[in-house]
Amino acid sequence: MLICRIYGAEDLRLEEVPQPEIGAGQVLLKLGAGGICGSDLHYFQHGRVGSFVIREPLIPGHEVSGTVAKTGPGVTRVKEGDKVAINPSHACGTCKGCRAGRENLCSSMRFLGSASVFPHIQGAFREYFVMGERQCIPVAAGVPLGELAFAEPLSVALHSVNRAGNLLGRSVLVTGAGTIGCLTVIAARLAGAARIVVTDVVDRPLAMAREVGADATFRADQLPKEPTELQQALGEIDLALEVAGHPAAVATCLAAVVRGGRIVQVGSLPGDGIHLLANQIMVREIDYVGTFRFGVEFEWSVRFLAEGRVNIRPLLSGQYPLRDALTAFRAATDKTKSTKVQLVGA
Ligand SMILES: [Zn+2]
Ligand SMILES: [Zn+2]
Repeated sequence: MLICRIYGAEDLRLEEVPQPEIGAGQVLLKLGAGGICGSDLHYFQHGRVGSFVIREPLIPGHEVSGTVAKTGPGVTRVKEGDKVAINPSHACGTCKGCRAGRENLCSSMRFLGSASVFPHIQGAFREYFVMGERQCIPVAAGVPLGELAFAEPLSVALHSVNRAGNLLGRSVLVTGAGTIGCLTVIAARLAGAARIVVTDVVDRPLAMAREVGADATFRADQLPKEPTELQQALGEIDLALEVAGHPAAVATCLAAVVRGGRIVQVGSLPGDGIHLLANQIMVREIDYVGTFRFGVEFEWSVRFLAEGRVNIRPLLSGQYPLRDALTAFRAATDKTKSTKVQLVGA
């Protein structure tokens, strides 16, 4: 079978390996669709994501759906032929974070397609892969595998909205209109936000944001820097979700939110830190909180997608067969043409 492996920066290879064996409680899955995520692109372009450095060949891919090809002894949750969403998050279930119901903070997390630990956790950009049955969530046959593969990024957006608190009737700013930014717009709307404003430095993502429900969009590079003028341009903002992971966007959020407002840091910021007008957090009593991956939201996300309660279709800009992974990775890097690019099984 075919697998996609990253050996280091700009070194992505397609290789033939034998099909894996399964044991008790395990499921053999055939790749349905797998979204190329920002972190996969970072591994491809730089051989690393922040402090996670590739130290052995890594199979990327964690936003995946598939079809059950075979089940091992004792598996009851799924059967051969089932369409499944795959939860890439394997928490230990026993550490302090897990016991507190915050499994995304697990101290022994094994996350699919990640170099966060060594040996690395191999991902799902391969024709067939093995998962424990706990990671497989079966859905009705009618749901397209490409849409189901949005379960992971949608969970990230749902978790960030959970960290934002009550959005009902609130006015929300989202900085960054890539896949996660647009899914954040969808999640904020689902949570009852009254007005959603989005900023980005590229026009195409802003058009996408409008298509999935943003009320107003602005070119971040054309907004006034001065706080009063910025507030006038954006209108009253109760809450900001900083998805871009850019120092300038953090500054925009800080200047834009009302006194007593909240900023949720969704995007990952440069490793060497940022300059922050920290006194603004104090004098205007701003809550500045982080959000990381997701927990229980994965199952909600699968349900919302399976029941057609969210429309993510505009965000799917291309699907490529696994053997064209290199072309797909190159397409995914071009934000003027692509939102979410997926690899699909044969
Ligand atoms: Zn991702
Ligand atoms: Zn744990």
